[in-house]
Amino acid sequence: MGGGSIILEVDGIEFSYKSIKALKNVKFKVKGGEITAILGPNGSGKSTLLKCIARILKPKKGAILIEKNNLLNLDSNEVAKMVGYVPQNSNGNYMTVFDALLLGRKPHIKWNVSEKDVEIVSRVLRLMNLEKYALRYTNQLSGGELQKVIVGRALVQEPKLLLLDEPTSNLDPKNQIEIMKIIRDVSKSQNIASILVMHDLNLALRFSDKFLILRNGEILAEGDKRIITPENLREVYGVEVDIIEYNGLPIVVPKDVSNCSSFERTCVDTPVLNAKKVETTISNC
Ligand code: ADP
Ligand code: MG
Repeated sequence: MGGGSIILEVDGIEFSYKSIKALKNVKFKVKGGEITAILGPNGSGKSTLLKCIARILKPKKGAILIEKNNLLNLDSNEVAKMVGYVPQNSNGNYMTVFDALLLGRKPHIKWNVSEKDVEIVSRVLRLMNLEKYALRYTNQLSGGELQKVIVGRALVQEPKLLLLDEPTSNLDPKNQIEIMKIIRDVSKSQNIASILVMHDLNLALRFSDKFLILRNGEILAEGDKRIITPENLREVYGVEVDIIEYNGLPIVVPKDVSNCSSFERTCVDTPVLNAKKVETTISNC
């Protein structure tokens, strides 16, 4: 989708933690303005893949190119300017929200904070509806507000590539949608390639252009929403699902709900009427 140029090329990477082969011959490309959701069960290598792209881990084989530059040849400040990374379960240190965002400008700041740095931080505060918290300490925020600050910190970097590991996992449905909309708008308007690890398939379907399904460190399928099929989901997660259409969007509905709570079962039993509820509860099934 989109006419953006290739920002990231992952070419046959392999990574092992001692005896565990976490990534095997992983290959894909991502264009500017494109949102890619990485799906797959726990332990399939999603976080490892993002860490390799953020240059926290070094693949044993293969290459990672960012705008045709080999990641290994860039210095860490160049990587920090180009790649915004939000790890899984990140938490902020004690500082004000404003300072926490300003820290994201660090790769750009030479000696002193410039007017431009302050302007960008203020813009992101506005964008994320965090202005009222600017002087609040990060330990006085709710989990959802803190998550927004952490994503905001990656945005002020003005990266070419945004890597977000489960960015919506601690958020309530309203904040999930809000953060996904911001990520989508920023990716499209600034031509950023965004890669998100996600567990909520319906949220992923609603906001992503491309999908990459990992299983045991290998890519099982890659492509647009047409790869989100009952067969692929059975193979990768071991669940039986139906895929229905609601308002022009595919919605994944689990068939075997014997292990879900009664509330979730009610939603699933009447999928069309409750498709919105299903969207937010399905990941708990
Ligand atoms: P995911 O993010 O998809 O849940 P990870 O990338 O975290 O998966 O993990 C992939 C595999 O690597 C798993 O088998 C996991 O147990 C293993 N692994 C992850 N981190 C480490 C580590 N620091 N040391 C050893 N093994 C690890
Ligand atoms: Mg992970």
